[in-house]
Amino acid sequence: MNPLIYLDHHATTPIAPEVLAAMMPFFTEHFGNPGSPHAYGWAAESAVKLARETIASAINATADELIFTSGATEANNLAIKGVAESYLSQGKHIITVATEHSAVLEPCRYLQSLGFELTILAVQSDGLIDLALLKSALRDDTILVSVMVANNEIGVVQPIAEIGQLCHNKGILFHTDAAQALGYIPLDVEAMNIDLMSMTAHKVYGPKGIGALYVRRRNPRVQLSPQLHGGDQERGLRSGTLYPPQIVGFGKAVELAVADLSDESKRLAKLRDRLLSGLVMELGSTGCLVNGTMDHRLSRNLNISIPEIDPSRLALELGKSIALSSGSACATKSRKPSHVLEAIGRSPELAFSSLRFGLGRGTTTMEINRAIEVIGAAVRLQA
Ligand SMILES: *Cc1c(COP(=O)(O)O)cnc(C)c1O
Repeated sequence: MNPLIYLDHHATTPIAPEVLAAMMPFFTEHFGNPGSPHAYGWAAESAVKLARETIASAINATADELIFTSGATEANNLAIKGVAESYLSQGKHIITVATEHSAVLEPCRYLQSLGFELTILAVQSDGLIDLALLKSALRDDTILVSVMVANNEIGVVQPIAEIGQLCHNKGILFHTDAAQALGYIPLDVEAMNIDLMSMTAHKVYGPKGIGALYVRRRNPRVQLSPQLHGGDQERGLRSGTLYPPQIVGFGKAVELAVADLSDESKRLAKLRDRLLSGLVMELGSTGCLVNGTMDHRLSRNLNISIPEIDPSRLALELGKSIALSSGSACATKSRKPSHVLEAIGRSPELAFSSLRFGLGRGTTTMEINRAIEVIGAAVRLQA
């Protein structure tokens, strides 16, 4: 057993061995530029094409609807700024949600600084958005709604198909950040009424530095202003030489995750529920407050607040044996409580004393049992 238990899979995941193996030849013998008109180029190009088809079919899109990017941050920026620039003449109103990742909130705030109007919807105390509230926020000059599929802190999964339907009823484009959802919950851009969707490989056992934006080409055909200008790769929407090892790795990672989605999701849900009930046994139900609904949630996520502990002491204690993310760890960087926990109504104290668990492919029952023990002991140390 690894002495350091890794429960931070929402931050990133290790590369699967199969993914690394698939990538290797594209660093060495097949090093060509996919844009080159010769055999080196063709080898790289055909591998990129295959990966593109794999990822597209995993989300019920077509290959020509995917734009490779450096990750979900870039995909979010391209979607939000690209739509804002393209649809300027139709309106300047954008809607997003208080619990979004900063890679959505910050591009939106940037646009606001340029004169766009921004509505940031509140969420309910369970982390879900209120569909009636969204409906009443939609205006004639609204050009884009951006709501994430699954939250990276509390794992709450929004009703994406219903949100997309509300947007489409009014002819408004719908973007979703699926960084935490791809490979974990079934995604279907048709059934879920999605027009733009951001994805990243490194949250699903693929390499860092690669992701994609799905851009709908039919009903409606989404117009997008490029944010990187250059050699016209990716139909002019994202210039720059494609990175075949990363793209091949992304394709392999998605193929593996989708093939095993339902079994792995059940396994993780069992482990996660074991973790929760173990923590409740150790800390008592008033000593372990769950953040976000348990009913619409990623099976690998748990987020709790532990009242009346010194969060930095706890983090220090846990850091010796468990790699996980805590409210205080974030705070050392930003000195601010999590905006997600704040949005669901947690006090700054409870936000700072939160622990985010992200279980993953390597997580075992033994590790979960050990984590429960270690956390119980660390909290008792403070009593
Ligand atoms: C990780 C993450 C991102 C950023 O993705 P990168 O590929 O690291 O840029 C964006 N949104 C969510 C919800 C994430 O979890």
